[in-house]
Amino acid sequence: MFVAVEGCAHGELDQIYRSVENLARQRNVKVDLLICCGDFQAVRNENDLQCMAVPDKFRHICTFYKYYSGELKAPILTIFIGGNHEASNYLQELAYGGWVAPNIYYLGYAGVVRFGGIRIAGISGIFKGHDYLKGHFERPPYTNSTMRSAYHVRSLEVFRLKQLKNDIDIFISHDWPRGIYNYADTSELLHWKPFFRNEIANNVLGSQAGEILLHELKPKYWFSAHLHCRFAATVQHNEQQLTEFLALDKCLPRRQYLELIEIPHDSTKNLELCYDPQWIAILQSTNHLLSVRPCTQYMPSGGPGCTERWDFHPTEEEIEKVNSVFGNDYKIPSNFVATVEAFKPRPNYNRNAYQSQPQLNPQTTQFCEKLGIDDPLEKLIGKPIVLTTPVVNPDEIELDDEEEDSFDDHSNEVVAIESNDLFFVDTKPQKRNKMSLPQPQNKTLDEDPQCAEKEQVNLIRVPSYATMNEKQQWVHYYNGPETPVNVICDQFSKYAGGKLPLVSVALVQGKALGGGAELATACDFRLFTEKGEIGFVQGRMGVVTGWGGGTRLVQLLGQHRALELLLTSRQIPASEAMALGIANGITKSAELSEAVEETKQWLQLKLSHAPQIIHALKQIVATARAVSYEESLQNERKVFAMLWGGDANKKALEQNIKHK
Ligand SMILES: [Zn+2]
Ligand SMILES: [Zn+2]
Repeated sequence: MFVAVEGCAHGELDQIYRSVENLARQRNVKVDLLICCGDFQAVRNENDLQCMAVPDKFRHICTFYKYYSGELKAPILTIFIGGNHEASNYLQELAYGGWVAPNIYYLGYAGVVRFGGIRIAGISGIFKGHDYLKGHFERPPYTNSTMRSAYHVRSLEVFRLKQLKNDIDIFISHDWPRGIYNYADTSELLHWKPFFRNEIANNVLGSQAGEILLHELKPKYWFSAHLHCRFAATVQHNEQQLTEFLALDKCLPRRQYLELIEIPHDSTKNLELCYDPQWIAILQSTNHLLSVRPCTQYMPSGGPGCTERWDFHPTEEEIEKVNSVFGNDYKIPSNFVATVEAFKPRPNYNRNAYQSQPQLNPQTTQFCEKLGIDDPLEKLIGKPIVLTTPVVNPDEIELDDEEEDSFDDHSNEVVAIESNDLFFVDTKPQKRNKMSLPQPQNKTLDEDPQCAEKEQVNLIRVPSYATMNEKQQWVHYYNGPETPVNVICDQFSKYAGGKLPLVSVALVQGKALGGGAELATACDFRLFTEKGEIGFVQGRMGVVTGWGGGTRLVQLLGQHRALELLLTSRQIPASEAMALGIANGITKSAELSEAVEETKQWLQLKLSHAPQIIHALKQIVATARAVSYEESLQNERKVFAMLWGGDANKKALEQNIKHK
């Protein structure tokens, strides 16, 4: 059987599957299995992205979500372990392994499976001595520290794997077993990675846990990644047993990240993924050793004074028990179900995404019930946990306003009953602020002259995400003070400061007075016809501005001019509006339908960038006005990070557009 081995995946599934296909075609072989050695980045949506320990510039959604949502299907059965850049919250749901997407199987903190008779074992994460003896105490939402320690290897998993003894065909670890460089010529390695020299000399490069397992299990093959280079070695354990070690690079052009390996297998066995009875028996017999506390816990060693069991190599009886549970059918059920909403490519992505509360995964729940073992996550968070997937109405426009920032404070979302940390009630769905704007009207003015007569302000909306592809423009007509304009203004003030996630322009063709004036200030731009007038006449009516028009006027004109206009309630003609800076232009034609056309063209000139870029720019500008300088800088960095290396960026780089 041909197995494709990939180093670090770093979310590049599309590219990896393409590379496997190419390699298979070149060699004219059929590949039955793909093994990824960590940094898989099973990121389902923006919330998962916040749970991944990675510098902001690498915080990309990448491609996994397409396989999660069902948009794409993994063309080859894929097995992976976790590395140090993962959606740790998602992997934590599958402590004993499970399908992260159809045909993509995660091995768990540690795991053993069989495929066509081949026995594959693996351990997730990287080794850090200071966390090695702790329990799995981390839970989302993570702190900066637990987001990292969550993927550090624990002694429980190493202890369990050691019980397997021999007969492992393939072992997978993310970081290299320490000392592996002593089994091959390191000159080439040091040529590429000279900074490893000291670590190798001091024998501190790689995982101590890996080193123990390598010499204990003596697998036929050992695959790793993490150090982002290719390195091969052969470990001769004794006369009969040797391990072929292979580390591969990460998925990047011209790197050695993928290799095909032919592994003899039992051709009478079906090529389907199965549980390993011995491993199951070990999970059962060591369940009592599972800890979810941050304190040190030693595994039973059998040393002097040790009265408890310390050798968990499965007995025949234990295997019998497993057989009776599984009825000798060890095939891993295809029981993947999506439990959160997958990312949808959209320009107004949620830049304020927050880490979700932990969620139990039905695959793990089923598995644990069947085996009578504990789900570490359930031990941490208790049961039941009620979480509902927010259903997104595509007609809704998502608001990215400060209210979402308050998600940092989770006190309103989760109420711990009796503060025993066991039961949680999620009250989140109501928190998310969404607003439905009226459906676009397809009627044009020509078709509806009646409407035109009453017209005071035309609001021309350019593509929102719903119409982005068509690059259509939406035209709305609002019919005067007694009709929806009040409601609309009210809703607009929620978007205060031009937060509408699209570029908007108001065409002031007649008299925009009171509410009309407030609405006009809510748009990014204002064009006037010659007949256009704007007046903040509220004072004359015995009231004041109430839909944010006063605030926005100050932002627009400064304190003194704004106050003057509000105090005098005078009606400003187009020419003065232009001079003051309220108007961004005056149309050539005063006739409405022509003015609308002109306005569309005027707007079109500002929409040459990719939609997601327009939205991102809009977000930066809108945020800058609404928050502190520091916050705005932070937001800008975040928006930038989301786009850096994205499709639009790649395209522009390919075309070398910067200096054109
Ligand atoms: Zn790594
Ligand atoms: Zn990596």
